[in-house]
Amino acid sequence: MEIRIEKTQNPKEKPQDESKLGFGHIFTDHMFVMEYDTGKGWHDARVVPYGNIELSPAAMVLHYGQEIFEGLKAYRTADGSIQFFRPVENFKRMNISAERLVIPEIPVEDALQALHTVVEVDKDWVPHTDGASLYIRPFIFAADPFLGVRPGDKYYFMIIMSPSGAYYSTGLEPVSIYVETKYVRAVRGGMGFTKTGGNYAASLHSQDDAHKLNYSQVLWLDGIEQKYIEEVGSMNIMFVIDGEVVTPQLQGSVLSGITRKSVLELCKKWGIKATERRISIQEVADAYDAGKLDEVFGTGTAAVVSPVGHLRWGDKVMEIGNNKIGQLTQRLYDTMTGMQYGKLPDDMGWIEKL
Ligand SMILES: *Cc1c(COP(=O)(O)O)cnc(C)c1O
Repeated sequence: MEIRIEKTQNPKEKPQDESKLGFGHIFTDHMFVMEYDTGKGWHDARVVPYGNIELSPAAMVLHYGQEIFEGLKAYRTADGSIQFFRPVENFKRMNISAERLVIPEIPVEDALQALHTVVEVDKDWVPHTDGASLYIRPFIFAADPFLGVRPGDKYYFMIIMSPSGAYYSTGLEPVSIYVETKYVRAVRGGMGFTKTGGNYAASLHSQDDAHKLNYSQVLWLDGIEQKYIEEVGSMNIMFVIDGEVVTPQLQGSVLSGITRKSVLELCKKWGIKATERRISIQEVADAYDAGKLDEVFGTGTAAVVSPVGHLRWGDKVMEIGNNKIGQLTQRLYDTMTGMQYGKLPDDMGWIEKL
């Protein structure tokens, strides 16, 4: 694939204080853009200065939400080199999402080439502070100006990038999670397994409710009986019950997280029993009452692993591990971030150098 590169004449000043980066506020100097037209396929791959785009108010994505995205990071190692964590998995998953939303797929090699090219152009934007990284957001949306309901004939694939601060600035602080019993995020047969904006739109109301109760995130139950655990909506969830790791199986309504997959592979390597199966919130509460709920943690690119300190289900508030990070959670965090920042050898073949 040929990629045209047009560099900015007005490079922005890079943030001086990397401890104040936060997440998703600042964007780099460039972005990747490629267009699709029915009959023509994907064309006009280019890296151009970051900026606003022009879109018809009738653009299909604005009305019917035909949109998918991905999320990954570039990490800087101690020797200054830059690397990715399993990026192939992101672009394979993007095509799985694309298929569900009738969006034209992009060959994984082309998407990877786009990733490497745009990060190379903006490589000075990859933060230097330990724990900070360049968050990368690839996305595709339908842009036809048309109000009828059908798959689009015109799409944009873009990659934008945002330097982001360490997720944990004061150590791995456990999060508190609220089990949603009224609304659901996804149903089997729906779009839960895809990374699409609509799933997030469906989650906002519950997130607001949780925040009002001082809980930072929502744990979703299945969309039919509201008994079985699904995921956190931006993270998958894992329970350590009596020494065994248990996580909900993938059955269409749960997103197949790359961090989730990596945790399962590490557990296997370490000889820790890890099971993907249906698990009800009642089972978790029973394990808690029996003193067997050792650890609970979320998994996702943003936080890697996120210890859960409090889990509230109705009137029941479970405090897990005295609201401190568990042993396995810490080991997984140290191992994965160690590989990502090049401090530990990559014996899993997960690291791809820029
Ligand atoms: C992205 C995402 C995750 C985490 O996936 P990773 O590949 O580990 O980052 C979990 N759930 C949902 C709904 C997501 O969108």
